[in-house]
Amino acid sequence: MDTGHHPKTKQYFQFSTDEVYQQLLVDPHVGLDKNEVAKRQEEYGKNVLTGQKKKSLFSIFFSQLNDALIYVLLAAVIVTVAMGEYTDGIIILIVILINAFLGMFQEIKASNAIAALQSMASPKALVRRSGEQFEVDSEDLVPGDLVFLDAGRYVPADLRLVETVNLKIDESALTGESVAVEKNAEEVYQDEDVAIADRVNMAYMTSLVTYGRGTGIVVSTGNKTEVGKIADFLKEDQQTKTPLEIRLAHLGKTLGKLAVGICVFIFVVSYFQGRDLTEMFLTSVSLAVASIPEGLAAIVAIVLSIGVTKMAKQKAIIKKLPAVETLGSVNIVCSDKTGTLTQNKMTVKELFTFADKLVDVDEEGKIQPEEKLLIEGMVLASDATLESDKQTGDPTEVALLMLADHWGINRKEIIENQPRIKELAFDSDRKMMSTLHEDQNGYKLYVKGAVDNLILKCNKVLEQGQQIPITDAHKTLISEAVDKMSAKALRTLALAYKEPSKNIAEDQFEEDLIFVGLVGMIDPPRQEVKDSIQLAKNAGIRTIMITGDHKQTAFAIAKELGIAENTDQAITGMELNALDTQKLANKIENYTVFARVSPENKVNIVKAFKEKGNIVSMTGDGVNDAPSLNAADIGVAMGITGTDVAKNASDMILADDNFSTIISAIEQGRNIYNNIKKSVVFLLASNVGEVMAMFTAIVAGMPVPLLATQLLWINLITDTLPAVALGMDPGDKAVMKDKPRSIKENFFSHGAGKRIILGGLLIGSLTIIAFIFGYYEHNYSVFDANIPEEVHAYSRTMAFLTIIACQLFYSLSFRNERKSILQVGLFSNLYLIGAIVLGFALQLLVLFIPVMRESFKLQLISVQDWGIILLFGLVPMLINELIKWIYRIRRRN
Ligand code: ATP
Repeated sequence: MDTGHHPKTKQYFQFSTDEVYQQLLVDPHVGLDKNEVAKRQEEYGKNVLTGQKKKSLFSIFFSQLNDALIYVLLAAVIVTVAMGEYTDGIIILIVILINAFLGMFQEIKASNAIAALQSMASPKALVRRSGEQFEVDSEDLVPGDLVFLDAGRYVPADLRLVETVNLKIDESALTGESVAVEKNAEEVYQDEDVAIADRVNMAYMTSLVTYGRGTGIVVSTGNKTEVGKIADFLKEDQQTKTPLEIRLAHLGKTLGKLAVGICVFIFVVSYFQGRDLTEMFLTSVSLAVASIPEGLAAIVAIVLSIGVTKMAKQKAIIKKLPAVETLGSVNIVCSDKTGTLTQNKMTVKELFTFADKLVDVDEEGKIQPEEKLLIEGMVLASDATLESDKQTGDPTEVALLMLADHWGINRKEIIENQPRIKELAFDSDRKMMSTLHEDQNGYKLYVKGAVDNLILKCNKVLEQGQQIPITDAHKTLISEAVDKMSAKALRTLALAYKEPSKNIAEDQFEEDLIFVGLVGMIDPPRQEVKDSIQLAKNAGIRTIMITGDHKQTAFAIAKELGIAENTDQAITGMELNALDTQKLANKIENYTVFARVSPENKVNIVKAFKEKGNIVSMTGDGVNDAPSLNAADIGVAMGITGTDVAKNASDMILADDNFSTIISAIEQGRNIYNNIKKSVVFLLASNVGEVMAMFTAIVAGMPVPLLATQLLWINLITDTLPAVALGMDPGDKAVMKDKPRSIKENFFSHGAGKRIILGGLLIGSLTIIAFIFGYYEHNYSVFDANIPEEVHAYSRTMAFLTIIACQLFYSLSFRNERKSILQVGLFSNLYLIGAIVLGFALQLLVLFIPVMRESFKLQLISVQDWGIILLFGLVPMLINELIKWIYRIRRRN
């Protein structure tokens, strides 16, 4: 057996299908035996394109060091060591290392989370193995596997096709040719010099089935495939930064520049103050450290990755990280009806023919010939299967098979008597499908589809066993039947047929048809959806129903769910087509139900809503849905019924196809954004506090209140803990009472900027006061000359512990912009409590372990001073709580 590499020997496109079976030792009726699959998996490995080498731990670690701040710090290490200040040098080095380790850990965790999401969204392949048909992960395919292709699927490996039914494949990813290639399994080439693009009996990995269906045998997998041989293809860089991350990186840069400015300024001031060179250098470094929020990027990455992992557990798989942010701004959710708003569990309730007119399927009665033909035709024109309780395929079709069983029609017999010889697949533009059958009497063609489309193709009806020309009276009767069914929210499907005298071509299928009748099936709405729609409404989000179904049926369901109140809010695709772009945009907001839409209508609907300044999410599942998913701000693909194309074009995948999941994803998105904002605002407030303290002291001519090593410790260790914990805050249900966040809004809106400044001012002043108080206790003024070193150290310890206490307590107040700490629940984020306890514990370690104490140049302080520190520590938090309280009272009045 061989796997695709054979320059001299015959290649697979030169083999007949039988030769392929022999070569790859596979029985086409059974597929590979499961044991054989296991053996081959061992031999050939995973069917994945491996090109991107995984980054090594080593390189991740070193990439953490590639940062301007770290350079400054490394320079500081060298200078301090050169000056003989070994302990300082070592401390700075240790902090750098801890920081790099934390950064590395965060990066690994974030990339694992993303990798897990990607694998959840990875394509599946439909195979036959050991005689059974089922889906497997595409990466588990082996040479010899029997794979089924249908429209919307990616070709999961290189295949030699063995059966093709109107199969068309878009190979542009491989050949650059944008027109889909018509495939033919029967073709066998003699010549070995056939270009890839011309081999119509082959299907290549990563190309896309756009039409029809087919079966193929896997001939090569992974890097042995044609696409695997193209090295460039694999170098695609998957890492995309979200707008949020880009904005934060920008902010970081601005702050960095500001830091340099401050340093230069301080340098000049200190020079004139006559401070010594060493101190000046260390002070500048400390200030740089204080002003750059270095933890920012890592914290945002980790909060995002935790958030998307949590969303995935709740069935919303984020494919593109920026979507998390956009979700919070969505104000229009366009959703498919069938399967998303409804259960997609269809049951035929009524049927209509010109024999008995409208009948309830549960009512006993003699079955009329027209009714028999209706059901038989529906069965023959279906691809679904139903055996005891095992079913595959479209639920609409399964319902038809169930109807046949319910009426005691032997499905097996009719399928055996009239084998299918040709077919024209369903698509959501035509809204119908047809199959051609042959029996002893000749040919029969059945077409099933949407009544309004099908009726246009009929020129006769079947009445009392006669094929008679269709009249307006017939059409009225049909449309009355449709109206009656639709008013009960029944989904209608019509059948027509004809008896061609010869084996006709597909383009002659859907014309000159004879109308037989129609069925009406119920598809109950999902229970939870009604509440979700109400929840969305309260959150300023409008739900729009987009469906291929009939207008009245759609409206009946929309009304039941609270999407529409009167029929004016419903419009059909045809009516949309009559409006030009501008008119559509002007009227779009009047509608909530779009029925009988085509994929093209969907794009126009999205564009019109966007034109009006809305942020739109759109669902899709079909082959033709990619354009509308791309056009939407958030494209949402169905995880169960969705095609690979739709999934690929989407920003988010619904693992359960459920509308309610979209709304809970929006809630999560809002919460994640808020959490990131809390972390960032907290970090910035802390940094402003540090800069304030240092800056004021230096400009005022005082000794520096915090040493470089102390600042580093606070900034890289103590600050980071509560910032990460804030990012993990449990979601607040109340976010769904707010309007969607404006896309233009930035981090500093809603008073966040003020809180940063206020918090910073408070923290900075309290630190300075504690610092001065240290001198005062020892009967010195902070401006005195010749103060003993212990007094400096004591006062710095006061400043050090105060700033930490302020920051740790203050973090509690950041959890909610309006609610008090107690309303939010003091213990509802145990991570934060843990971070605060750990933060204090670390300070105690630094203080009480003698080596540490000496290294950080700290002093033990009196019990009374501990009291002062705790008291000071509570002030910023209490003031913030007071402000929130005033705000709440004002709002209430
Ligand atoms: P939604 O767009 O909300 O998912 P839908 O399933 O009705 O709703 P489509 O799948 O585009 O949308 O179907 C449109 C119409 O085509 C249906 O209302 C039905 O009349 C017809 N139809 C659906 N499935 C089939 C099928 N398997 N064979 C023939 N006609 C079908």
